[in-house]
Amino acid sequence: MSSSHDIPFIDLKGQYAALKGDIDARIQRVLDHGQYIMGPEVQELEQKLQAWSGADHCVTVSSGTEALLISLMSLGLKPGDEVITTPFTFAATAEVIVLAGATPVFVDIEPETANMDASLIRAAITDRTRAIIPVSLYGQPADMDDINAIATEHGIIVIEDAAQSFGAQYRNRKSCNLSTFGCASFFPSKPLGCYGDGGAIFTNNTYLAQIVREIRVHGQSQRYVHSRIGVGGRMDTIQCAVVLGKLTRFDWEIEQRIAIGTRYNAMLDARGVDRIKQRSDRTSVYAQYTVLVDDREKVVAQLTREGIPTAVHYPIPLNRQEAYAPLSKGGPSPVADMLASRVVSLPMHPSLDESTQFRIVDALARVA
Ligand SMILES: *Cc1c(COP(=O)(O)O)cnc(C)c1O
Repeated sequence: MSSSHDIPFIDLKGQYAALKGDIDARIQRVLDHGQYIMGPEVQELEQKLQAWSGADHCVTVSSGTEALLISLMSLGLKPGDEVITTPFTFAATAEVIVLAGATPVFVDIEPETANMDASLIRAAITDRTRAIIPVSLYGQPADMDDINAIATEHGIIVIEDAAQSFGAQYRNRKSCNLSTFGCASFFPSKPLGCYGDGGAIFTNNTYLAQIVREIRVHGQSQRYVHSRIGVGGRMDTIQCAVVLGKLTRFDWEIEQRIAIGTRYNAMLDARGVDRIKQRSDRTSVYAQYTVLVDDREKVVAQLTREGIPTAVHYPIPLNRQEAYAPLSKGGPSPVADMLASRVVSLPMHPSLDESTQFRIVDALARVA
């Protein structure tokens, strides 16, 4: 199934080759000082990310999932409380709602962007609703101003699942600084990744920032003083050092991602291939570059034969999953069902060149 012309889906090896000197030196410094947990790189990264995002506070945590869980835990949810989210996402988004003791309520998505349809949220709100978790899917924020306005009306909070969108902008504000909480993931394949698991919580609320800091270390307000239930949710010093190294060219990578995504858009439009659309008041960092096809099985098989890897984000909406169906709420999600059967993601990374993109689009257009 592979040939010498195989194209990587993402290119972490090429990125490491470009940054090797700096990343190796940063990791070595951690090995030398030996503060593997909560070493100086943790605070250095939190300060840099906080400044970069424009949010008042950044708290690094052990993964994107943990960022979402800790944010929800800070709200003190009770059984029966409801959290509204999208069924068209990675399972972590809804998993944490259940783990935090609440009920996921799924609302459908928009057909153009695959993001939560803000016009459906009001009908899903009850007196038990405590939070809304929109996902900035594929790297593009949802209609955050509309979602925040609805939340404010009802006195509930908004947590942006920004696992795929760190680096994107919405109306000139950065993803992760668009609502009460923004939750980033530094899983290796995300736009800003480390070499293991990592994540971060962003907020402008000083009180909630303090609470999530305590939850991150077993609910401690001081050493061995446990004021609340917490988790072991710290991000390793070595992983923070890796992200610090990657940050040195992250602005360039974002520019590249946007240029490459825009080039895909033009090539696909010219060949009449349907795709996820981007709104004009925001950017996408294209964590995934995703197109829509009718016969996905045939398309994937043909691209595989031509050495072009693909992935499906996501084949089954969460409201249809065995684990979630019995303990979630929400009506049918026909748009999520439709997109789940049609989406396929193409190779995407900051060094993807035009001729490779042309080869990918040409192969796709011939079979789609
Ligand atoms: C990757 C991802 C997560 C989870 O992040 P981890 O760092 O892998 O725990 C959550 N939500 C979405 C939408 C994701 O893509």
